[in-house]
Amino acid sequence: DVPVPGAGGTRFDLEKETELRFEVEAGERVQLELLTGLAEVFGSELNRNKKYTFGPGSKIAVFTWQGCGVCLYGKTEVAYVSKDTPMLLYLNTHAALEQMRRLAERDNERGPRVMVVGPTDVGKSTVCRLLLSYAVRLGRRPTLVELDVGQSGVSVPGTMSALCIERPADVEEGFSVQAPLVFHFGSTSPGTNIKLYNKLTSSLAEVYSQRCEVNRKASVGGCIINTCGWVKGSGYQALVHCASAFEVDVVLVLDQERLYNELKRDLPHFVRVVLLPKSGGVVERSKECRRETRDEKIREYFYGFRGVSFYPHAFDVRFSDVRIYKIGAPSIPDSCLPLGMSQDDTQLKLVPVTPGRDLTHHVLSVSCAEDGEEGSRRGVVESPVCGFIVVTAVDTQAQVMTVLSPAPRPLPRHTLLIMDIRFIDLK
Ligand code: ADP
Repeated sequence: DVPVPGAGGTRFDLEKETELRFEVEAGERVQLELLTGLAEVFGSELNRNKKYTFGPGSKIAVFTWQGCGVCLYGKTEVAYVSKDTPMLLYLNTHAALEQMRRLAERDNERGPRVMVVGPTDVGKSTVCRLLLSYAVRLGRRPTLVELDVGQSGVSVPGTMSALCIERPADVEEGFSVQAPLVFHFGSTSPGTNIKLYNKLTSSLAEVYSQRCEVNRKASVGGCIINTCGWVKGSGYQALVHCASAFEVDVVLVLDQERLYNELKRDLPHFVRVVLLPKSGGVVERSKECRRETRDEKIREYFYGFRGVSFYPHAFDVRFSDVRIYKIGAPSIPDSCLPLGMSQDDTQLKLVPVTPGRDLTHHVLSVSCAEDGEEGSRRGVVESPVCGFIVVTAVDTQAQVMTVLSPAPRPLPRHTLLIMDIRFIDLK
């Protein structure tokens, strides 16, 4: 437990259907305690007389359907009660999805596949978390598909993933991430390689559909797909592609009427496109804040999260023992492409990387592909990854690099994929 100075705390009494919103100051921690009544944080119920701790920069809403009394300890940037929340609309959305699951169960069909879209900072991830937690509280087993390569809720940034949800999100830590399916994308913006982004979206859809064929609960539970905030041009096309790859039934558009109208126009008529307001509580995050969140996510991967500490390993890897690739060659004019090759091919190509000093601090994905599988049909590009390492030093003379790894040596596989993303290990 974190000692809180002047443990007096501030008490808030909330009427029914209102929420307490607060932000934790930089460098501070805030504790939250439910004193009376019932309340939830983004769909997860609070236990009474338990202190929940939130780290610097957290932006939290404590919502109550029935009314409650809560106490905050520590330094908040802001803390206020709002009566104006879209929670009732979100709950109705959940009820409609649950109805679809019930029908699916009865008629031996599949449950709702839902795509959540909207510009950045409208609460997409929060709505996904809410809908998943409500579903799992009713005994469903929905799947979270995370396509936001900038701010992944499942794995490190630069990845696209799917996770079967088996219990509500932990109030402090979010969903428990056991055995997610993770693909390497390699950067924080889909635009750096949109062909790869679409390809991996299709791969995730394929794996999910296969799972639904053998697992009735997964099929009835349906999926909730979180997407990127890039909703114009190729970003928009990627949303349309995703809707078709997953054969989505419902699209929830947060906040943007234009996007809503475009999707209504471009998606097949049987797809239900619904416009939902964003919550006034959602806070815009600066570029700096996003970068910090990304960094924190990578640090958590290696060092654990508050209560649970991990102890990563550092060891040397000989260049000759691994093969490092980047996915996608820089595009070249069509006229210069070899006969029979298209731009698509270059964007999905494995380009060998010669290890050098510039590898330092880069995050590398360890591909699950069997060694020697580079040339096979599915190959490395469409293989999931089994983990990540960070290059902390490179010795070109000795032809070795030092890596930070969650597991001791040796590496489980020898095919590594380089990310644009860097992590500076300060420990
Ligand atoms: P997006 O996925 O659209 O980028 P998020 O769901 O990540 O947006 O929300 C942005 C931030 O706003 C998050 O830090 C989240 O905790 C916070 N947030 C969401 N809803 C509320 C709310 N009702 N009150 C206070 N903060 C909120």
